[in-house]
Amino acid sequence: MSSLVPEIYGSLVFNDKVMRDKLPKDIYKALRKTIDAGTHLELDVANSVAVAMKEWAVENGATHYTHWFQPMTGFTAEKHDSFISPVGDGEVIMDFSGKELVKGEPDASSFPSGGLRATFEARGYTAWDPTSPAFIKDGTLYIPTAFCSYSGEALDKKTPLLRSMEALSNEAVKVLGLLGQSDVTRVSTTIGPEQEYFLIEKSAYAKRKDLIFTGRTLLGAMPPKGQEMEDHYFGAIRPRVAAFMHDLDEELWKLGIPAKTKHNEVAPCQHELAPVFDTANVAVDHNQLTMEVMKKVADKHGFVCLLHEKPFDGINGSGKHNNWSMVTSKGANLLEPGKTPAENISFLVFLTAVIKAVDEYADLLRLSVASAGNDHRLGANEAPPAIISIFLGDELTEIINAIENDTFFKSKKAQKMDIGATVLPHFFRDTTDRNRTSPFAFTGNKFEFRSLGSSASVATPNIILNTAVAEALSQFYDELKKSKGSIEDAVHKLVKKTIKKHKRVIFNGNGYTDEWVAEAKKRGLYNLKSTPDVLPTFIEKKNVELFTKHHIFTEPEINSRYEILLENYCKTLHIESKTLQDMLYAQFLPTLMKFSDKVSASIEAKERMGLKAKAEKTLAKKLDSAYEELFTYAEKLVEDTDKAETMDDLLKRAYQYHDKILEEMAQIREVADSVEVYFPADLQPYPTYADMLFYV
Ligand code: ADP
Ligand code: MG
Repeated sequence: MSSLVPEIYGSLVFNDKVMRDKLPKDIYKALRKTIDAGTHLELDVANSVAVAMKEWAVENGATHYTHWFQPMTGFTAEKHDSFISPVGDGEVIMDFSGKELVKGEPDASSFPSGGLRATFEARGYTAWDPTSPAFIKDGTLYIPTAFCSYSGEALDKKTPLLRSMEALSNEAVKVLGLLGQSDVTRVSTTIGPEQEYFLIEKSAYAKRKDLIFTGRTLLGAMPPKGQEMEDHYFGAIRPRVAAFMHDLDEELWKLGIPAKTKHNEVAPCQHELAPVFDTANVAVDHNQLTMEVMKKVADKHGFVCLLHEKPFDGINGSGKHNNWSMVTSKGANLLEPGKTPAENISFLVFLTAVIKAVDEYADLLRLSVASAGNDHRLGANEAPPAIISIFLGDELTEIINAIENDTFFKSKKAQKMDIGATVLPHFFRDTTDRNRTSPFAFTGNKFEFRSLGSSASVATPNIILNTAVAEALSQFYDELKKSKGSIEDAVHKLVKKTIKKHKRVIFNGNGYTDEWVAEAKKRGLYNLKSTPDVLPTFIEKKNVELFTKHHIFTEPEINSRYEILLENYCKTLHIESKTLQDMLYAQFLPTLMKFSDKVSASIEAKERMGLKAKAEKTLAKKLDSAYEELFTYAEKLVEDTDKAETMDDLLKRAYQYHDKILEEMAQIREVADSVEVYFPADLQPYPTYADMLFYV
């Protein structure tokens, strides 16, 4: 196998090598220019590419093509058309035109639009994104596309991502020009998303309505062994899981996804996969594909892959780590400290731009990871807190402090910008401290945003990050441009000023403590705990200004997305509540009653024999009061859920779900779990935590 890897890698991708082989030279050059420099693509080029793409796809067994897009559901969508085209006499040829490659017209009426598109305007368009390579999956040619409405509003996650990449590139190029790097024509953002997931037995999954309908367990007592033994578990990759991982790697490699690292995670049945980083746009597409392929391959191995943020109460949930940086068209990583003074200037400028961006738009960063599922993790001592802060590490913080207080500069008056040359390389090679509790950590030559949920698209956090940094750079540019004297002096002043203003967002300590919560409050940082708390920040003036200034979202697009997010939250909890009701009425309560009957029968039998049946009576009492409580809570849950559905104000409805429904669901769970432990094995209504997490 190993010798074959280079051969299978990317074998299902219309990649650069295929393009070079299949396309006429001038067409290849034109396409390359579009991909590398973001220039417009002409239709004759598209026609030529379409022919080559179809030829290649058919050679590789494809019969269909699809415009693959990412509507605001957070999932991907596709509609398949075959290549066949009748040519009379009952014969067909395989045909595909540039027009079909460039534009698709799926019926858009069934995708969320948040009021952007009245249903009679069902027309939507998909537009080919040539910067993300097409690929073949299950006999279909997949063409990555952007999705917009008839009147041009973005209905997807790719369009704003591409816009944000462009905004950042434009601003970064301008700043680099002032810093003497005018040969840089473009700056791309790079992402390496680490993906966590659970694998459980398909047979167990099939018997749990909560997992099927909501992705997480709504009931279920902790097993005798939880994750306290995590380190025992760490090394032992079960053979079946190993076989799954092997298959998964191979499938991903074929699709040109550079899956690199895989290991067991802290919780039982939890694992992680990390690819080698790529351009933001491609990495986002790849992460979507990775999640899909994970589910498909799991199925083949008799598993179900759970991507929910919190499938099991009391056990660590799953997230994603979004490793992020910026690379110039010259190949330089702007967050790499580098060795020459000139590079250090740009490093300091871009580092402080990120610090400023994260501080000013912490609310939006928090928003970008908000979901009903992720609310179970953030701030729950397993994932970073809901407070967004930056970890820089001790040495880098010292450097920042030195700049702020002029201490370092004073002692090295003659060569101000040598600051990095002596200190930074030392820091980056030798530092060993790692802070796992920080939501946003500098990790040597990139930032790692760790608050993302495992199931969500990584597009949104990167849209926000790119845009916020673009804004910081835009302000930097204006200021640097105005300044007189040497650029070094101007940068020094700017960096110093920025640090003074935004250092409150830097925190190197333990983010899980109560002291930090109090300290963060003192510093005036946001602590937006739940999804309903954070969503309204989307439509705040400063944020609307940010998005519209950089042409990421128009105001109607913002409003529609805000509405979709609120709706999504409510719908998720609605389904959870309904599922819990169903499990209670159809499974748990009848089981409880059945077991109570058994215990009562045993009490009667014993009393006939003149025995006291003391233990049974204690148990009967417990079961009886649990039944009483559960039944009452369940009725209340039904009532309050119905009430939520009558609320027209979406934000109020979201709060009803958050404050009432979630609370009631938690109460129910507590009671149910406390009696579940008494159920005899043959009466358990569905697989228990032990069955699911400790299968052999
Ligand atoms: P850890 O678990 O220690 O955080 P991993 O190796 O699992 O480290 O993940 C690090 C991720 O960061 C990988 O996906 C890697 O490709 C990515 N990465 C490395 N350099 C960059 C960069 N310049 N930009 C974006 N991502 C990067
Ligand atoms: Mg990591």
